[in-house]
Amino acid sequence: MFSIFPKDDHNQALRLKRFFMALGSYWMWFAICVLFYSQGQMTRGGIQTLVVSSFGIILCNGVIFALIRSGYNKKFKDPSLTLLQMIIATFWVMVITYYADTMRPLVLLTYLVVFIFGLFRLNVWQFLFLSVFAVVNYALVILLLYKINPDLVSTSDVLSIAVLAVVLPWFSLVGGYITRLRAQISQALSTIEKLAIIDDLTQVFNRRQMYKILEHQKALVDRGVHPFSICIFDLDHFKKVNDTYGHSAGDIVLKTIAQETQRNLRNIDHIARYGGEEFILILTNVEKDQAMICANRIRNIVRKIAFENMPNDFRMTISVGVTEFQASEDIQQAINRADTALYRAKANGRNRVEFETPVSGS
Ligand code: GH3
Ligand code: MG
Ligand code: MG
Repeated sequence: MFSIFPKDDHNQALRLKRFFMALGSYWMWFAICVLFYSQGQMTRGGIQTLVVSSFGIILCNGVIFALIRSGYNKKFKDPSLTLLQMIIATFWVMVITYYADTMRPLVLLTYLVVFIFGLFRLNVWQFLFLSVFAVVNYALVILLLYKINPDLVSTSDVLSIAVLAVVLPWFSLVGGYITRLRAQISQALSTIEKLAIIDDLTQVFNRRQMYKILEHQKALVDRGVHPFSICIFDLDHFKKVNDTYGHSAGDIVLKTIAQETQRNLRNIDHIARYGGEEFILILTNVEKDQAMICANRIRNIVRKIAFENMPNDFRMTISVGVTEFQASEDIQQAINRADTALYRAKANGRNRVEFETPVSGS
């Protein structure tokens, strides 16, 4: 069924929300027209101008809505179509200035409302372009009126052009600066969001995010949606790597193993750094047999990795402890069980996978 806002595209929904905000602002345009008309300030226009312009506004905005809702807007450099919407709004402000009588300069106040929408997107140059567009348009309106009848134009009209030519470019400079700040803030926000969930060294999820994912998976198991399994793996004799090749070589080994493991997981599975040289795999919708297959597959991949800046024959192995999460149990209980299996894998000679059966399980 058709919905006004797309449900699966957050960015498009946001663009449409801004579009409706801008569309809503046309009520000011309409209110000014009605006020001027009722006060005899639109003697040359008449009611038909108001009706025709209203249809024009609806048509222009209908096209903008169709462009955004159909996704066609994504073909443009600025998919929000901010500048286009502002040019259209500027044009319709111009239409009232043309038809308004002596109170014409007052209408120019609405330009500022139009310009405020530019703060969402426009850079200084686009703002300046719009300023020039607005000033030139207004000057043309005055010139046109002067040509029709010089009595229609007064000194205040000429002064208004000058005031616009001063105010709008200045607004553009400040507006462009605010747009830049906004972009920097949103960049900083996404960096912070990333830092909050990603481990700095290995670039896989950190422990905090791991618990979040585990909570989510637990909820699914508890509701009987699907099972999941946990694997904890630990690098074998990793201390020796640090001692022999140095800490930064150890860092590269850690990062490479984490990245290579991530690359070899399904995209519904997750890897997180549990601590030091231990990682956790969260395998969704997976029971014991498939978990063991997956753990052995990863173990085999890791033992074949050749590392940057290390001797050609240098290889690492991992030991893995696997368990299946049981409905209603504590997350830590399941992690401890995987840890027990890992301990056994170490004790049984390393470079192997062990499974720890849940007490209440099969
Ligand atoms: P085992 O096979 O029993 O696991 O032996 P191991 O040497 O891997 O285990 P141990 O726990 O003795 O040593 C782990 C080492 O991992 C010690 C620690 O300095 C190192 N380590 C932990 N975090 C990092 C890290 O971020 N970078 C580097 N380079 N080393 C780390
Ligand atoms: Mg180790
Ligand atoms: Mg360890």
